Amino acid sequence: MKKNGLKQWMIAVLSFTAVAAAAFPAGAAPARGKITGVDSGRIAGWAWNPEDTNDVQQVELHIFQSGGSEPVKYLHVAAEEYREDLAAELKDGWHGFSVKVDWSQLEGSDFKIRAYTVKDGKYYNLGEPVSYNKGSGTVKSGEKAADTKKTTASATKEAAEPQTSSAGTSLGTFSISGYCNCDKCGGGGGLTYSGAVPQANHTIAADLTVLPLGSKVRIGNTVYTVEDKGSAVQGKKLDIYYDSHEKAISHGRTWQEVFLIH
Ligand SMILES: [Zn+2]
Repeated sequence: MKKNGLKQWMIAVLSFTAVAAAAFPAGAAPARGKITGVDSGRIAGWAWNPEDTNDVQQVELHIFQSGGSEPVKYLHVAAEEYREDLAAELKDGWHGFSVKVDWSQLEGSDFKIRAYTVKDGKYYNLGEPVSYNKGSGTVKSGEKAADTKKTTASATKEAAEPQTSSAGTSLGTFSISGYCNCDKCGGGGGLTYSGAVPQANHTIAADLTVLPLGSKVRIGNTVYTVEDKGSAVQGKKLDIYYDSHEKAISHGRTWQEVFLIH
């Protein structure tokens, strides 16, 4: 009698688990991550598989109207952007994501955002859902107070950056270094590849298949023009021209968001 009762209870649990798994994500996630910032133009976060750091996480963001049960918007992004803070935290920075969102297209002002990583057609939760108010730009997360503070602070920082069209379209995060006209930097005292005389705060070298000659990009508050190329400048890399070797060296290597100016 007792045995039977236990068996039935186990079957009930097993079938409940099966239903729950089929209805919604459950079980051990292959990745960890979370939403770290939401602002008027973007949702940012990170996702990675600590067991296999080459496994790029496919992240899906589901945006719900507050209280709604069906997402009003789905966004998909691969978590493969470099983030300096992750490099420090995870010892590997290439697992960030940042995806554009146009809140003005969505009705209502209070939203809840859930992040999932998708593996073999299955959805796994990434961290806690985050609330966003498009009027105030307020971000709240379900995490404990200290983390919430951090999330809000980073969201505020992102929101402080200009997001208007004149500020350009985000091209994502680039690896950026400095160079000058000296032999060590390969400048050789000559002109840029475009033929123009290189100028500080103006000339930048890019992978011309990514950014053709003449492209204008904003990094921070400075707008540069692509006038040069370099054998090591490939993909999402840029080399900023400086008028002295000391300045070029002191730039070091930074990872910054780059905006294309139209
Ligand atoms: Zn130099």
